[in-house]
Amino acid sequence: MRGALTIRGPAPVHADGRFAPSPTGTLHLGNLRTALLAWLFARAAGARFLVRLEDLDTGRVRPGIAEGQLADLAGLGLCWDGPVVRQSERHALYAEALVALERAGLIYPCWCTRSEIRAAASAPHGPLPDGAYPGTCRDLPAAELALRQRSGRPTALRVRADGVREAFVDRLCGPVEGVVDDFVVRRSDRAYAYNLAVVVDDAQQEVGEIVRGADLLESTPRQRWLQRTLGLPEPGYAHVPLLLSDDGHRIAKRDATEARGDLAAPQLRGILASGVGLAEPGEAPSLDTLITRMRTLLATEVTA
Ligand code: GLU
Repeated sequence: MRGALTIRGPAPVHADGRFAPSPTGTLHLGNLRTALLAWLFARAAGARFLVRLEDLDTGRVRPGIAEGQLADLAGLGLCWDGPVVRQSERHALYAEALVALERAGLIYPCWCTRSEIRAAASAPHGPLPDGAYPGTCRDLPAAELALRQRSGRPTALRVRADGVREAFVDRLCGPVEGVVDDFVVRRSDRAYAYNLAVVVDDAQQEVGEIVRGADLLESTPRQRWLQRTLGLPEPGYAHVPLLLSDDGHRIAKRDATEARGDLAAPQLRGILASGVGLAEPGEAPSLDTLITRMRTLLATEVTA
């Protein structure tokens, strides 16, 4: 079938999965395709499938969107186990992880503005990738630090990862290697950052296999570093290729309505599954059929 995926080893220790949308916009076809695959990875292995709403960025969360996202998942037949978890109700867990990092001496305050980081990051900085934080506030002299702390200016908190390299084998993308910069774990508005919250939640919810869009692949080395540093289990990863629009652009949540129309669930599943080689174009497969095909695909794992 066209667009068929190749599964690379090794399989995770357990296959409990999840879908974790941010309720900032309606799910588009690419998001739904990722959700379908996350569901199929879990269900084909007879494992749990969880849904978590990543609603920490209160400035971007929009009312009513979460309910629409859950209705879209249910409409496709992607049932989930247990109650839906909301990150906005789990601050205590993130605070605990932050304290552990602070105790280990791995946190420092950062006063850089976005434009300062952009300017500093565009200068060459050894092995750090483009856009990575170059460590401007990492080792401020004590007097300067005290002065800034007295100024009362809001500070972000960053980890001291020092450009360590992380390598892993992604189940869909194959071998991946990345450098970990000193990323933010708590923003200057005191919101816990995505990378911290996602690692804490995936561990606390015992997620074994993380299936999500390939736009998050570059965050994964940071998350793996956090897992190791916090002594948490390391899940498996499968980053789903992004769905591109007809003109080759990445589609955004605001493009959600294109092509979905009033399609019935089997037709919509067919469109989503045919893009990843699990259905023929025009087919309207049942979930059981897709689970059977997914089992076959998982059984034909290749070595990375
Ligand atoms: N909340 C993220 C998003 O909607 C997904 C995070 C994840 O799956 O790790 O893009």
